[in-house]
Amino acid sequence: MKLKEFKKITGTLKCDTGLHIGGSAEQIEIGGVDLPIIKHPVTGEPFIPGSSLKGKMRSQMEKKLGKFSSDGKPCGCGQPDCLVCKVFGPHMNPRHNLGSTRILVRDASFNEKTKEEYEKLAKEKGLSYIEKKTENLVLRTTGTAKDPRSQERVPSGAEFDIEIVVQIYETDNENNLIDFVKEGLRQVQSTYLGGFGSRGSGKVSFHDMKLNGTPFSL
Ligand SMILES: [Zn+2]
Repeated sequence: MKLKEFKKITGTLKCDTGLHIGGSAEQIEIGGVDLPIIKHPVTGEPFIPGSSLKGKMRSQMEKKLGKFSSDGKPCGCGQPDCLVCKVFGPHMNPRHNLGSTRILVRDASFNEKTKEEYEKLAKEKGLSYIEKKTENLVLRTTGTAKDPRSQERVPSGAEFDIEIVVQIYETDNENNLIDFVKEGLRQVQSTYLGGFGSRGSGKVSFHDMKLNGTPFSL
């Protein structure tokens, strides 16, 4: 199987509500928030791991096509006609002949406009760009709040540069692959990214989308 070419999908991911993509426990500072977001270890700048965007695209496409195992695990069928396995990689299936996973989703950083706003707030006003949201669990019996938990979010309006590389093999139907990836992005747009989607976080939209530099709309 020969690799024919790479196609690059680029664009802007805009947060239409606050976005929470959880950071690892090691990043929790003493006296910090209960639920921090993932940040660059050196700059402290929030970013969207490529694995988060790719994982959400995958799970949505699996739901749309009914492609997941009976116990709810990701699709690992490895069948030549399964675009989930071809595009995202067959889950836990080392014996397949699909070639390499067709998409690479890069980690997404703030675009220039958002980076400027982020730095301006920090440097000029000593404020954090990151939103801290507190949620209470209200006890049904007494109506009182219990265990407030603080949660970090990238604020609405923040924009990230995204990049997805699609590897096209000679045997691939290129249009089918690209359409599948676009549908994955539309699915993310129709649902949410990151955590707490059912409670209002993670609504995102894609703008200025380009395929190898040529604009397209989702
Ligand atoms: Zn499959």
